[in-house]
Amino acid sequence: MVLKWDGHTHTRFCYHGSDAAEELYIDRAIELGFQRYTISEHPPLPAGLVDDPALFRELAMPPEELPLYMEYAKAMKRKYEGQIEITVGLELDYLPGQLDFTKQIVDQWGHELEDIVYSVHYLPGADGGARCVDFTADYFREQILSCYGTMEKAVDTYYDHVESAIVFASALPMRKRIGHINLIEKFADALPPIGEGQIRRRLERIIPLLAQGKVGIDVNTAGLRVATCGKPYVPEWFLAACREQGIETVYGSDAHKPEHVGAGWEWFEEQMRKKA
Ligand SMILES: [Zn+2]
Ligand SMILES: [Zn+2]
Repeated sequence: MVLKWDGHTHTRFCYHGSDAAEELYIDRAIELGFQRYTISEHPPLPAGLVDDPALFRELAMPPEELPLYMEYAKAMKRKYEGQIEITVGLELDYLPGQLDFTKQIVDQWGHELEDIVYSVHYLPGADGGARCVDFTADYFREQILSCYGTMEKAVDTYYDHVESAIVFASALPMRKRIGHINLIEKFADALPPIGEGQIRRRLERIIPLLAQGKVGIDVNTAGLRVATCGKPYVPEWFLAACREQGIETVYGSDAHKPEHVGAGWEWFEEQMRKKA
């Protein structure tokens, strides 16, 4: 039997999510029969990472809130002891050229972090500054596609960054997994098509890197909730291949509000019932 674990969730410390009390998320998880629940908020980002100040404010908490978040998550862990196992985590970003920023967060808080979801949310834009891959389809077209010229080039750069992210993650001392590995497909139906062959080639190359680095995958179902995606961010064949290689595969709802908790679990459970 697979452990009923939601390994990727957000809190009121997320400014593009909900301000709902954490108890609403966790009570929902308990109601749905979850045994473990990882709180994995976006940590602060380097000042000015994204040039649009309004967008930047939405992406992550300001630096002074990180200690408050850590207290909040640990308080929930204590409060729910005996009912559900809460693990304290973060969804760290792969920040090309600014890896030290992330290292510093790990150095300071690593001893209290049980789970890291490590995600690629940004690609360099025309001026070298970071651009979000998952903001809106229009933004993707204007800020990323126009810069790279073709989807193929943008997608290749994305997976190059995922590969580098695996190298970084493999050195982390706690449990870690790559967040929503196919996030680049979020707006697939609204953008020029991405070749299936390209995705398969890139993901096949990634499997041994995950296995060697002992880095898991976040089997993220949030894509099911996105109209232009309509599927989990982890293809079924890739999930099966990871299981075959002994790579840790952890379900993640990526809940940004309480009603998201556990969404898509049935799909995940069905995949895990198949023989590895
Ligand atoms: Zn988020
Ligand atoms: Zn994410």
